[in-house]
Amino acid sequence: MKKVSYLILSISILFVSCDFIVKDKNQAKNVILLIGDGMGVTQIYAAISISENTLNIEKFKHVGFHKTYSSNNYITDSGASGTALATGVKTNNKSIGIDSVGNSLNSILLYAEENQLATGLISTSAVTHATPASFIAHESSRYDYENIAKDFLDVDIDIFIGGGKKHFANREDHLNLVDSLKKNDYHVIDGINNLDEKMKGKFAVFTAEEHNPKVSEGRGDMLAISTEKAINILDKKDKGFFLMIEGSQIDWGGHDLDIDYVVSETLDFDKAVGKAHEFAIEDGETLVIVTADHETGGLTLLDGNLLKNEITANFSTDNHTAVMVPVFAFGPGAENFGGIYENTDVFEKMMKAFGF
Ligand code: MG
Ligand code: ZN
Repeated sequence: MKKVSYLILSISILFVSCDFIVKDKNQAKNVILLIGDGMGVTQIYAAISISENTLNIEKFKHVGFHKTYSSNNYITDSGASGTALATGVKTNNKSIGIDSVGNSLNSILLYAEENQLATGLISTSAVTHATPASFIAHESSRYDYENIAKDFLDVDIDIFIGGGKKHFANREDHLNLVDSLKKNDYHVIDGINNLDEKMKGKFAVFTAEEHNPKVSEGRGDMLAISTEKAINILDKKDKGFFLMIEGSQIDWGGHDLDIDYVVSETLDFDKAVGKAHEFAIEDGETLVIVTADHETGGLTLLDGNLLKNEITANFSTDNHTAVMVPVFAFGPGAENFGGIYENTDVFEKMMKAFGF
């Protein structure tokens, strides 16, 4: 009798431990999505050419492309493309988190929340700007910054870092959303250096009244530091996390036809990619995806010198273009990101990686 129960006990231990060890190798505990706004292949190669060191992006072995067109335009804006990446649905330009007939869409961040994962957003623009907004808000116009700020109060995001404090604190409707955030148990912090990773709770970290300065004009390592701190905070949750990090201003360099702006912002974004990649190597259960929402500037390189780290760049437009943009993946499920697919498939692939 004793022998039999011992046997049953050993079998059940075996089952429990099997369940623990045998995990789908394509399943990820954490997903980190890094979006270089406006970062096409040329922007990346310009940064590779200018840099004396190998970029972190170059270390990713699984590469694909996605098609960026929106539901009403061959050329997307950051609202429609952000929504496609975040929710898996193509929508009209200018829309945030809603489909082309106005229905609200659930984003990967909101699905992660529903599944008790920790969640975070970081951007070098205002957090209310189109790309980060696509992950939490539902608005017909990306320019309704005050409404988008209000939408932050309807979600339970664990940490968000970026500019845009004025849309919370200094509003035309005189509502004080900083107080509302505090009522919702947020630590509201000014400046990334004041964020103490040892603190517990939820964090709203404002790094600027509106947008952060250019990296060439004193932003410092805000993006890389924010990435590292957010990962450390989110990683404390046992069930895993979803984190979106945006290098917002690569796009603005393109709109300004300013190659130095494009390259410095791409190199800055790559530092954040490095932080995520380092964590994923150590962690082993983290899928890191690096992509863009669209290309900006129709950038070409007409000449260059890799020994002198020089390029001759030419913009064909001060707006977005239609070309496919690259996707780089590392970690469990990274193999699924090869090939050419729709921007909405990035969402599907992340959902699959989480097992949702
Ligand atoms: Mg953006
Ligand atoms: Zn743009």
